[in-house]
Formats: sequence, structure tokens, C-alpha cells
Amino acid sequence: MKFNSVLDNLKIYEAGKPIELVVREYGIDAKDIIKLASNENPRGCSPRVIEALKDEAKKANLYPDDSMYELKEGLANKFEVKSENIIVGAGSDQVINFALQAKANENTSILMARTTFAMYEIYGRQTGTKILKTPSHTHNLDELLEMYKANLDISVLFLCLPNNPLGECLDTKDVYEFLEKIDKDTLVVIDGAYQEYAKVKDKNKEINIKDMITKFSNVLYLGTFSKAYGLGGMRCGYGVASSKIIKTLHKLRSPFNITTLSLRAGIEALKDKEFVSTCIEENFKEMVRYEEFASQNGFDFIPSYTNFITLKYNDDKNSSDIAQKLLKKGIIVRDLGAYGMNAIRVTIGTPEQNTKFFQIYKSL
Ligand SMILES: *Cc1c(COP(=O)(O)O)cnc(C)c1O
Repeated sequence: MKFNSVLDNLKIYEAGKPIELVVREYGIDAKDIIKLASNENPRGCSPRVIEALKDEAKKANLYPDDSMYELKEGLANKFEVKSENIIVGAGSDQVINFALQAKANENTSILMARTTFAMYEIYGRQTGTKILKTPSHTHNLDELLEMYKANLDISVLFLCLPNNPLGECLDTKDVYEFLEKIDKDTLVVIDGAYQEYAKVKDKNKEINIKDMITKFSNVLYLGTFSKAYGLGGMRCGYGVASSKIIKTLHKLRSPFNITTLSLRAGIEALKDKEFVSTCIEENFKEMVRYEEFASQNGFDFIPSYTNFITLKYNDDKNSSDIAQKLLKKGIIVRDLGAYGMNAIRVTIGTPEQNTKFFQIYKSL
């Protein structure tokens, strides 16, 4: 059977390996496996969410509130915008897809940093658009601007702040200067999946979402409950932008695109600020241990504004070998070999998980 030709060169996204797979393939007990591969919150989610979900499960027979009134109100209050500035997706992943469906096609290009979130390219390719990437792995605004000016057909430009999978983050004031130079017909997607972490580590990375979308009518800000809020399994994310952009994106949203439970989880998670700040504080405390571990063991790391750290190797070591060896001992990390980098990305775990990581790593 022949399929749409844009699918010919598309690879299936390889998600972080689930614990179940390691149990099956390596015969390791599930309780001995540590998953540090998908930037999930190692402390789970707020107890408040768990409590609310028990009750909410009784409504499993009913379709969710498709207006998502309560969740949008919660987000609108948090960001001091209106509900009409918000769209909710099954993860912010889905909102990335809406953005590309809305703007990209065979006659356009999309622009991004060389090593950034893989879904930009994957959803992009589905539209037939051309993919442009900077020479540098991390975000380089000079390179992005140069390429933007040299390619007049760019419809969507992605900035991942901070960047996954490398962890670096541009200063917000530099981003503002950059945005001034971008045409208002180009949609700029600012992916803030790790903003909650970045702004705690360094105020220069903090984005005032209301200010940004007010000043720049072409910016779509993305946030998610999957990382700091610990709700990856709930598939709940959102986009914030001018009501004009949001209205258009809504045309691409199917009804009931997130579940009754995901909605409730998002609503309750927003109410527990303390849970999030405790997790973030511990995250950065534990990250220092990884930085010290790298220095002590003769390899480099990229300073990170997220809940993961990228460890970089010299030619004497191979990241795929290391990831494979760790996997056999029950530790799942992300090898960045596929990105042309000799590096692994490790999600910061709980103190106990990290201690075990260091012990096992040293025994490889
Ligand atoms: C995790 C992540 C997302 C989206 O996650 P969802 O679970 O789909 O909300 C988006 N962008 C980046 C950079 C991420 O790391």
C-alpha cells in the first residue's frame, strides 16, 4: 500500500524505555529498576492530586467538560491572562502539533536549534514542511537570526527555554531582543516545559508569559504538567497566546482531547505550589552531586536549568556503550548518540536513586 510520501522519511519516535521492558528483556526485578530517562518527577505528583483522582474516577462514564472551564481558569489566574488565551492539549506535545498544522506546509520551512525536542521535527515532517536547524547543537540566537533572514519561507520558529535534551537556557532579555527582529507573521513557539525549574535557578531565565504574549502577538508559549507537576502519565499540557492564535488552534482540536482524570489532575496540581517548590529545590541540590561526579570521573556536563543533566564524554568513552551497560544493571538513561553527540541525558532522581546511580556507574 502506498502512503502519503511525507511519511516515507519519518522515523517513529523512540520514547524513553519503560520499566516493564527492562523487566522483560533483562529479567531485572521492577523494584530494582531506576528510570532516569524521561524527565519525570521522581517524587511522583502532589498527594492532593491522588486524593482527587480517587473521586474523579467515579465519573469515568462521563465525557469530560470540553470547555475545560476550571483548568483554564486556574491557568488564566496563574499567568494573569484570560481563558481565551489558553488552549489545553493531551500534553503540550499535542499543542506543538496544532501549531504546525496551523502554519507549516510543503511551501514553508520551520527553524530550530540543531539538538532540541524531537517532536518539533516529527510533527513538522508530517506537514511536508522543510526542517532547518542551526549548526550549533545548543540555541544560538545569532545563527537562528541569520538563518531566519536567509530563508523567507519560515512559518514556525522554535525556542525551547530551557532546552531538552541539553538543558541550556537563553536569557529572557536576549530572547526579547531576538523577537523584535522576527516578522509578526512567523509563529514563534516558546516551549517552557522546564520553565518552573529555570526560573528558580536563575531569574534571568524567567519568562513573564503575560508580558511576552502581549508584546509579541506571534508568540505561542507552551507549558506542561508532565515535568515539575509530576503528571506525565496524565497527558496534560497547554498553550498560551493571543486569543487570535488560540482561536485558530482550537479548530484543530478534537472534542474531549484530554480525559476527565487529566483535567482534574491539572486543576488540583495547580493548587499545590508547595509540592512543586519542594521538588525543584531538591532537584537542584541533587544536580550538584552529578556535577561533582562528572568532574571527579573525568567527563564534562552541560550546566542545566532543568530536571536532567547531560553528561558529555571524550573520545575515550562511548555514550551508547555506557547507556547499554547501565541498562543491564537496571538504570535507564537517554543516550544522545542519535543526535550526533557522545553524551547521555540523565533525569535527576531522588537522593536514593542518585546514590545508586553513582554506585552502579562506578562499578561498570
Ligand atoms: C516533556 C516535554 C514536552 C511535552 O511534554 P507533554 O508530556 O507532551 O506535555 C514538551 N517540550 C519539551 C521540551 C519537553 O521536554
